[in-house]
Amino acid sequence: MLSGPSGVGKGTVINALKTLCPQLLGREISVSISKTTRKPRVGEEEAVHYYFTDRETFLADVEKGAFYEHAEYAGNLYGTPRAPIEEKINAGGVVVLDIDTQGAFQVRASGADAMLVFLLPPSMEELENRLRGRKTEAEEAICKRLTIARKECALAPQFDETVYNIEVETAAREICALIEKKLAQINE
Ligand code: 5GP
Repeated sequence: MLSGPSGVGKGTVINALKTLCPQLLGREISVSISKTTRKPRVGEEEAVHYYFTDRETFLADVEKGAFYEHAEYAGNLYGTPRAPIEEKINAGGVVVLDIDTQGAFQVRASGADAMLVFLLPPSMEELENRLRGRKTEAEEAICKRLTIARKECALAPQFDETVYNIEVETAAREICALIEKKLAQINE
């Protein structure tokens, strides 16, 4: 599971990871696609970046137990669809989740054999530059995300591993190595 503040580059690092290690120790590495009530950003595609839905449908899915975990982040709901992740895990695969800290701790509390990795920015100044630089949020949303980011970074020590995203490929390689180490432990 990969968590980290908004703007730290989780999506970019996960894309690099998909290219660098599609398989590790014979296991397929795949990435979960979440459902969200957030509106799509320019360039975001249905079923590629997220499954976009409305609040009412999302809450009905929660009632049905359709989520592996779910959380509210900056006023929007996000959840990991349960069926695809269970299918992949049962087939011996590894699923990478890009989720917030609340979701990460829910998965840990469920007793799942998960590794919680926190992706840190080189500094809070750099995070603010990245968040502003991508121009996907309005000023109010940026401030909200920066406030959450400070709280989230304070939780980093509670994660199993922390990785700095100074350079995307290096961070992705570090995460591949961590997954490989965890798989080797499971295989022991
Ligand atoms: P964004 O709106 O920037 O795409 O995502 C905002 C936050 O929601 C990020 O921290 C991201 O990791 C998190 N997130 C995305 N999908 C999920 C999910 O399925 N569950 C949870 N708990 N958080 C998610």
